[in-house]
Amino acid sequence: MIEDHVMRLGTDTAGYVSLGDISSLNDYRVVIAKRDGGNKLRLIVWDIDDNGNLTRRGTGTAGHVSQISIVSRDRSRVVIAKRDGSGNLRLIVWQVDGAGNIVRRGTGIADSISQVAITSIGDAREVVAMRDGSGNLRLIAWGRITDNFTYNSVFSAAQVNILRERHRLAFNRIEACTTLDGREKEALIDTYKRAIEHGINTNPNANASAFINGSQILVNLTNFFSLVDDERAQTLIHEMKHCAGFSHPTRFNPPAPDADTPGDNGLYYGSPPLQAEICIAGSQSDLTCVKDSSGACVIRSL
Ligand SMILES: [Zn+2]
Repeated sequence: MIEDHVMRLGTDTAGYVSLGDISSLNDYRVVIAKRDGGNKLRLIVWDIDDNGNLTRRGTGTAGHVSQISIVSRDRSRVVIAKRDGSGNLRLIVWQVDGAGNIVRRGTGIADSISQVAITSIGDAREVVAMRDGSGNLRLIAWGRITDNFTYNSVFSAAQVNILRERHRLAFNRIEACTTLDGREKEALIDTYKRAIEHGINTNPNANASAFINGSQILVNLTNFFSLVDDERAQTLIHEMKHCAGFSHPTRFNPPAPDADTPGDNGLYYGSPPLQAEICIAGSQSDLTCVKDSSGACVIRSL
């Protein structure tokens, strides 16, 4: 049968490699993940034409790696599973544009591993098989942040995309954030795994609101989408912290002699919802958050 034969076509080479894996994005593009001479992760995109000629495209780099596996999530994204410099499993999503340039996106981490392999199961989900710290086989399923979130039909598709993108940015800032402790980060990450409903807040002074331990964020369409990108992410991570069970006292505003001010680390700005805002862009918003008559924490413009 002719299908059982292979014919050698084009060849190309790149630098030193000590570990590697390959995945295809489509009929004309592959992505290589390798360990380079410095023991760092390096991704290289190659295009292959109808004649099998190879053309090297973009390169991406990341930290120390001692095991690698790669799989394509869709036609423009790959997911790397690697053993990082601490010996832990780390997933990194990379996006490849039309020209073949590659950009690092989200990260997920798990426990100690010594071997790893990843596969995709469609609908932006992956399964990682690993040899865990005890030498046993362990499988972990991974999904995409916010895919379990729902949105009132009043939100436009563009608005839903903004909410998702801002949530994903906020989620990706949690791991490296220095203003939340381990328990506060874990509670926030667990909340991102829940089905959070996004509804409409019609209070003309509100940007968004949420209940403590709730599973709903209410968004004022006009006010929230008038905010700049960092404020949108700060607002969402603040409200997610309320959904995670964290509260804060009502803010004392000037001219009160003991007025709360961003960065004072006091009862208001030192609380977990306000400390979470620092994870976004290193600062706290100057938007006050109060409990309304229904008990929801409402972020308003001053
Ligand atoms: Zn609040």
